This record gives sequence, structure tokens and C-alpha cells, in this order.
Amino acid sequence: MIKSETIEMAANEIMARAAIDIPEDYKSGIKGMIDMEKGDLSAFVLEAMLENWEVATEDRRPMCGDTGVPRYYIKTGNEAQIEGGFIELEHRLRRATAQATHDIPLRPNRVHPLTRQDNNNNVGMNAPEIEYSFEPDTDWIDITTVHKGGLFGTDYRMLFPGDGIDGIKRFFLDVLLAFGKRGLACQPAIVGIGLGGSKDTCMMLGKQAACLRTVGSRHPQAEVAKLEDELKELGNTTGLGAMGFNGNSTVVGCNIEVGYTHTGGMPMSVHCFCLSSRRATARLYSDGSVDYRTDPEWFTPYMRRNTVGWDGNAALAGAAE
Ligand code: SF4
Repeated sequence: MIKSETIEMAANEIMARAAIDIPEDYKSGIKGMIDMEKGDLSAFVLEAMLENWEVATEDRRPMCGDTGVPRYYIKTGNEAQIEGGFIELEHRLRRATAQATHDIPLRPNRVHPLTRQDNNNNVGMNAPEIEYSFEPDTDWIDITTVHKGGLFGTDYRMLFPGDGIDGIKRFFLDVLLAFGKRGLACQPAIVGIGLGGSKDTCMMLGKQAACLRTVGSRHPQAEVAKLEDELKELGNTTGLGAMGFNGNSTVVGCNIEVGYTHTGGMPMSVHCFCLSSRRATARLYSDGSVDYRTDPEWFTPYMRRNTVGWDGNAALAGAAE
């Protein structure tokens, strides 16, 4: 049985880790960009960001004053037993959000969209968001928190099959330039792309691709992985560097997730996980132990299954080895 107290304790811990400690994969991606950066100011900003992250970790203070919008992703399985069930799980996550906002502290960003009422704890109607996915033969719970910044770095377009790869590239560039010019998401960003699905699925997949996959990860399907590489390269040719200065460091990683869609369409969403790429995961076991990590391991072969049933194999047609 996974105790509710352990859930709250672990949620508090990952809230702090996400806000303070930038994941190693993102940091390594930025380090790799410094040598390639041609713009002086952009290179200076990248160096400054590395220093900023070190100071934040040493001082145990958030690495950006803007908390973004904290949210949770839960992965679990049929065998997991949770004290108080999922209602208690959600209660504990809301408590941890309020507590962490006070203790770390985090800026209380969440307000009512019309009245601008602020509960001063990042909790309110439909906040924080909690999304679920499932994994076969599993008795643990993974709790991931993401503090998504770059609020406005997101867009959607209904493309058509005839638009092809050129249409995908055009929308990708339109978004990066529009966001970059208006200063809407601090670069370099992990750019997540949702391709296919219905509109809501497309948006969900793109956001998850940005926030729940690491820099350097590749989609298992060869055609998709190839497009990830091409878009990353293309995204770094716009002339926009770190924080919008002249340069070539806009995209530290490009992750694409795919959902089968209507035969007449090719919906696409683009999401920028800004240079506060804040994510942290805890795995809670029934014996009370907790492991922490920075890779959410969200997109499993089960989640990407392409078959009617599930026999425990990575049944992804056309998958790269
Ligand atoms: S976009 Fe990201 S790095 Fe920039 S202010 Fe917002 S949270 Fe901070």
C-alpha cells in the first residue's frame, strides 16, 4: 500500500527539485550549444544561464522568478494500491502545491481568468492540472511535476495531408519566429510537436513531447526521428539566439509525438519548454521507498502501441531499432 503521507512528501520534494535543479540532459544540451553559438551576446547569455543554474542549486532557490504553471503527470498500473485511492492522491497533490508555494517559495501565479482572484498557493479551479497514463504489470506510482513556463509559446494549426513536410516546416518556423519576436518564451527551448490526433489530443501530445521527453531522446519510428533532427537544425537557422539575441541557439531539442488522425487532416501543435525546463519525477513503491529522477519516462512502448492488443512487446510498426 502506498501511503498518502508518502505521496505528499514526495510531491513536495519534486516541487522543490523541479523549481531549483535544472535537469542534466537540458544542461548538457545547452553546454553543447555554447561552442556552436556564433552570436557574442547569445553565447554570453548561455554562459550566464549555466552560472545562474549553479547558483540556484547552491542556494536552494528557484532558478527563475516566474514559477510558470505547476502541473502533475501520474503513471501507474492496476496492481498499485493507494491509501485513500485517487481522490486522496489528488488531495495530497493539491496540498503539496500549496505547501511548496509557501515553503520554497514559488510565485503564486495562478489566478481566476476573469476576477483575477489569487488564492496565493497556485491552487484553484482546475489547477494544478493532473494527467494520467497507465502501464501494465505495475504496482508503483510515478508522480512527475512540470512547472511549464513560456506560457504563450504554444500554437496550433490544422494542416492538410497535401501540405506535407514542407507545410510542417513552414508552421514550425512561423511559430518560432512569432514567439521569438514577441519575446514569448525564453530560448533555447525544448520544442515539442504534436502531430495528428484530434485537436485536443494534438495539443496534449505536443505539450507532453516538450515537457516529458529529455533533450537527446529520439522517437522510435525512423521517419519521426528524422523529422525531429531536421526541425531542430532548421529551428537554429532563424537568426534568433538565446533570449532572442542574434545567434543560432533557439532549439536545444525537438521532440515529436504522433497520434493517428482523420484521413483528411494533419493537425499540428508546437510548444516551447523554455530555458526553465523544470521537471522532476518520484517513483513511489508499496514498501514505502521513493526514487527520484529527472527523466519522466512517460512515453513507453505501451503508450505508443500501434496494435489492438498488448502482448508486452514494443509493437510499433515501422519502429527504428
Ligand atoms: S519563459 Fe521560462 S525562463 Fe522565461 S521568464 Fe518565463 S518561466 Fe522564466
